Amino acid sequence: MYEKMDKDFVLNTYARNYVNFKQGINATLYDDKGKDYIDFTSGIGVVSVGHGNARMANAICEQARNLIHTSNLYLIEPQAKLAKKIVQLSGFDMAVFFANSGAEANEGAIKIARKYGERKFKNKKYKIITLENSFHGRTITTVKATGQKSFHKSDFSPYPDGFSFDKNIKTIYDSIDDETIAVMIELVQGEGGVWPIDKKEVQDLAKYLKERGLLLIVDEVQTGVYRSGEFLATNLYEIEPDIITLAKGLAGGVPIGAVLTKHKDIFEPGDHGSTFGGNFLSTRAGLEVLDILESYKNSGLLDETFLYFEENLTDICSKYPNIFNKQVGLGLMRGLRCKDAQVLSDAIKACFDEGLLVLKAGQNTLRVLPPLTISKDEIKEGFKRMKNAFDKIS
Ligand SMILES: *Cc1c(COP(=O)(O)O)cnc(C)c1O
Repeated sequence: MYEKMDKDFVLNTYARNYVNFKQGINATLYDDKGKDYIDFTSGIGVVSVGHGNARMANAICEQARNLIHTSNLYLIEPQAKLAKKIVQLSGFDMAVFFANSGAEANEGAIKIARKYGERKFKNKKYKIITLENSFHGRTITTVKATGQKSFHKSDFSPYPDGFSFDKNIKTIYDSIDDETIAVMIELVQGEGGVWPIDKKEVQDLAKYLKERGLLLIVDEVQTGVYRSGEFLATNLYEIEPDIITLAKGLAGGVPIGAVLTKHKDIFEPGDHGSTFGGNFLSTRAGLEVLDILESYKNSGLLDETFLYFEENLTDICSKYPNIFNKQVGLGLMRGLRCKDAQVLSDAIKACFDEGLLVLKAGQNTLRVLPPLTISKDEIKEGFKRMKNAFDKIS
């Protein structure tokens, strides 16, 4: 009944699975028939503190009873607090703009880079270089910034000028010209297939750009908020970008995006804005998420979870050499490289039938992004189901 309703009334943009989830507790979801699923997707890296988190629910309810939204024309106390918290956790001397999604955060980053390129150089610089297999969003501009030709369909053209993508970091140097202002990268490409970028190569690039007054933008929409093990993957890579974007896990499922930059004076009133961005509800949710995750990290529990998850993944990868080449990724952003695309879709389907949610990334990667608060029992159960699924297809 709801499947037909969805098909009749919702535009057809997702290859949807018609399971009807009714409830979630941490990394476990329950559908309308009472069947349970272990969630190794966390809503694509969003539900960072798990489903049905009581602290989140209380914080959001209390905030909603008082104020959800007043607009950015007035002070928003939780917005100021969340900005301060993000900056403190980042370890950088930066300031924040709040948006509602990853794509919007990246739009903000691009506007900062463009204005910087206009104001700081005698001859305007505006071009932005990204990487092949990157993903930066679905707006017309961020789709153009996404380094995958399949996204640049002529149906939606013309696209804005000033974007090009390179095969890898090494070839970027040759592509930088007099009009280039910035390079934008993910440190671990997520949607593109869980590809961590080499630390030394990123550090060298950061240094090269800095020496020339050019900007490094790091898209941490997926890697940010402890998914890599540190608050920012940027911290793990020991670089200091000019601009960092966040979104997915930042408010545990309440829509939010954030742009951090060390160029704190770049914008003036009127340059950028958002009706919803940084409102009471989303920033209060973000504060609770960071509070929960900061203590989770400091207590050592997050690192324990990472180790336990990795052990299980290594084990399963070695047990099915006919299906997988190797495991990839870091923190709780992991993947198994599959030997062929058909086997990959069979594997994902088999996991679902066993009651385990996993994702596809790129052409041949089975991707897992569980809630950061996933319990050991849920990890154990999830991998048990994965083994059952792989036994059926191998
Ligand atoms: C998901 C994602 C985006 C887009 O985020 P939306 O909230 O869907 O707009 C951008 N960049 C990266 C790295 C992502 O993983």
